[in-house]
Amino acid sequence: MEKIKMTTPIVEMDGDEMTRILWQYIKDELLLPFIDLKTEYYDLGLEYRNQTDDQVTIDSANATKKYGVAVKCATITPNAARVEEYNLKEMWKSPNGTIRAMLDGTVFRTPIIVNGIEPCVKNWKKPITIARHAYGDIYKNVEIQVPSAGTAKLVFEGADGSVTEEIIHKFDDEGIIQGVHNTSASIASFARSCFNYALDTKQDLWFATKDTISKKYDHRFKDIFNEIYEVEYSEAFEIAGITYFYTLIDDAVARVMKAEGGFIWACKNYDGDVMSDMISSAFGSLAMMTSVLVSPEGHYEYEAAHGTVQRHYYKHLKGEETSTNSVATIFAWTGALRKRGELDSNDDLINFAAKLEKATIDTIESGTMTKDLALITTLENPNVVNSLDFIKAIRERL
Ligand code: NAP
Ligand code: MG
Repeated sequence: MEKIKMTTPIVEMDGDEMTRILWQYIKDELLLPFIDLKTEYYDLGLEYRNQTDDQVTIDSANATKKYGVAVKCATITPNAARVEEYNLKEMWKSPNGTIRAMLDGTVFRTPIIVNGIEPCVKNWKKPITIARHAYGDIYKNVEIQVPSAGTAKLVFEGADGSVTEEIIHKFDDEGIIQGVHNTSASIASFARSCFNYALDTKQDLWFATKDTISKKYDHRFKDIFNEIYEVEYSEAFEIAGITYFYTLIDDAVARVMKAEGGFIWACKNYDGDVMSDMISSAFGSLAMMTSVLVSPEGHYEYEAAHGTVQRHYYKHLKGEETSTNSVATIFAWTGALRKRGELDSNDDLINFAAKLEKATIDTIESGTMTKDLALITTLENPNVVNSLDFIKAIRERL
């Protein structure tokens, strides 16, 4: 068989631990035999990040801006234990955080639906995609534990010398206060990423906040989305036959539970944090979620939603058998290959991505799966396989 040709490289960001092992299996078994794979390789494994003072992460994000499509393996976000384990010069920041900040993107997470792994919510027939704003609000807060009676004020000192002041509360006794912020630029980027992604995937877009209570803060989110929609996207949405729908967050939650799925739910930072965990666990597992970071300029970085599966890696190092689910990592690759194919009008690459996804889903639906899925499947007598044999079963089908 002649291998599929590529014209533009995909930015490849290798990672850590068990997912690094899966990464190599996937390339060897599922990609290299079929594609003349062109990638620009960046090793985001913790050792090399440490060697390069994390410059490699920055370089990989810049390469993503240059080429437009990246695929990323899960990586360790160092904590104190990792600093010791890897003898790190510094507690390097989360690569995902660094890349997200540089691309100014929004993260879209979608469950991968297979027969035999049924959602807890019976009427969910199609995936629900969460789009989480990844900047500001309580994640960049300042807080004070109020020790005693006194007055808390919100003060804004303009660069031009003007001052705006509001009393938050006059305390009779101890209490708590919190200051949060966002910027119009970040909200606008979030909005554009969501509108672009909805057009890209031909799905309706829902957005919800608590604007009835938060009449300035949340209302600003609603207004920015509306303004950008009217001026820049309403026509394209009409042509694509999709809708933009704003509602109150309480109403959105109630509607999501009654819906069939098949739409994108844009969430403010906290709502997205909480709701994405609810959606992913209700649909099955983190190993069955796709995740893509989309920048307002239309750069895409595909990854798995889960981490490096450290516990399995330590078993692997001891020579014990692992049964780690590679579906999310395979779909990170197919997402990147499909997008590269679309940008380069490379139909062979687009078709290959679709075939690999189908082979993966069919393998599970035929009963061959990793242990995590065997525990929750409704299929009888699943054939539980190890990490490599699962990938080989997919190759067989492919
Ligand atoms: P994790 O890698 O997501 O794994 C947590 C547990 O979830 C695993 O021990 C395993 O459960 C199950 N699991 C997750 N993915 C699985 C898969 N593909 N197949 C089968 N089971 C799976 O989280 P963690 O162990 O807490 O974190 C490990 C490292 O990942 C940390 O250093 C963290 O910084 C990093 N991390 C990276 C990213 C990213 O790069 N996107 C995201 C999150 C975390 P059992 O042990 O019960 O089998
Ligand atoms: Mg969370």
